[in-house]
Amino acid sequence: MRKFDKAVMKLAERVKRVSPSMTLAISAKAKAMTAEGKDVCTFSAGEPDFDTPAHIKAAAHHALDAGKTRYGPAAGEPALRAAIAHKLQQDNHLPYAAENIIVTNGGKHSLFALFMAMIEEGDEVIIPAPYWVSYPEMVKLAGGTPIIVETTAETGYKITPDQLRHAITPQTRLLVLNSPSNPTGMVYTPDEIRAIAAVIVEADIHVVSDEIYEKILYGNATHLSIGAVSPEAFERTIISNGFAKAYAMTGWRLGYLAGPVPLIKAANTLQSQSTSNVCTFAQYGAIAAIEGPQDCVEMMRQAFEQRRNAIVERVCAIPGLTCAEPDGAFYIFVDIRQIEASSLAFCNTLLDEKHVATVPGIAFGAEGHVRISYATNLDTIHRGMDRLEAFVKTRL
Ligand SMILES: *Cc1c(COP(=O)(O)O)cnc(C)c1O
Repeated sequence: MRKFDKAVMKLAERVKRVSPSMTLAISAKAKAMTAEGKDVCTFSAGEPDFDTPAHIKAAAHHALDAGKTRYGPAAGEPALRAAIAHKLQQDNHLPYAAENIIVTNGGKHSLFALFMAMIEEGDEVIIPAPYWVSYPEMVKLAGGTPIIVETTAETGYKITPDQLRHAITPQTRLLVLNSPSNPTGMVYTPDEIRAIAAVIVEADIHVVSDEIYEKILYGNATHLSIGAVSPEAFERTIISNGFAKAYAMTGWRLGYLAGPVPLIKAANTLQSQSTSNVCTFAQYGAIAAIEGPQDCVEMMRQAFEQRRNAIVERVCAIPGLTCAEPDGAFYIFVDIRQIEASSLAFCNTLLDEKHVATVPGIAFGAEGHVRISYATNLDTIHRGMDRLEAFVKTRL
């Protein structure tokens, strides 16, 4: 390290409040092992293993050639905002107009923009656990207080209306809902969504619905957007979504927030003073994703379903592990408590001894579990599950 790298620099309190990603250490280690030539089976990825569909790439390519290389409006290309509004009307029965939409740098940044625009010191945000790693940290960055509500396998890792009612205080501003869920793969049924909506309306709080996995559903599972339940629920709903998961576009950094105009205007002000517009020609790829053929989405969904069936069968057959069959997304969430209490220890040893990379549940606020992503090929799934089985056997 050079001298200036060692010098102590005073950093803002704001960053000290935030935990660095715990999953990063494991994935960095897995990458280093792969680089050393070790045969690592990787189940830690939070992204589809498919390439972006060709017609989406072609549309961005065309936009690039056509000179869509300049600054655009901070809230996004008007054509994309209109296409997103239309999609939300058609797919989700949410009566948004283009002015209710802001295009953001991924679904992650749309949530960040929302918390920054809406939450301040003293505000409470209810987050059911297991949760996506970024929710509590973003709430803290905005100065708010995350209120974590633990859920259990008995309720499918879903918050119940009673749990929600009990967590609400006069300081509560917002509930974070994520269905299908990362990390559990659970999907709220339409009746469960209606029951949660009733509590939201009764308590007069808002809900942000993170619908990034809405297209990745299995069996009879259906996705009901909480804003479609009633006009009263719609008024209190903010939608966060993006293109990363449904269209295999993680690296494109394209997401959006939908909500009441004053909120969108506030997010636009923040964005205009921080990120400006999302990469202009990339937005034309997003238009093609929405307006083009949807069979690519269905093909990827079918592949995920086949993998889900394979991995669930394998994991459920391992004595000492329990997991519920996920209805959506591309993760299974495995209870390892019969084997090991510390999820970090389990994941580390599994990686060291068997070269299998998974993510510890503690990163998602759920100790005693691990998240296994099956966004990988069937061969890796079978080889990895052989290794997991052998690993668990020696520890029972
Ligand atoms: C992947 C993911 C996102 C957003 O991802 P982006 O790449 O930023 O669009 C949001 N929420 C959850 C739960 C996710 O898993």
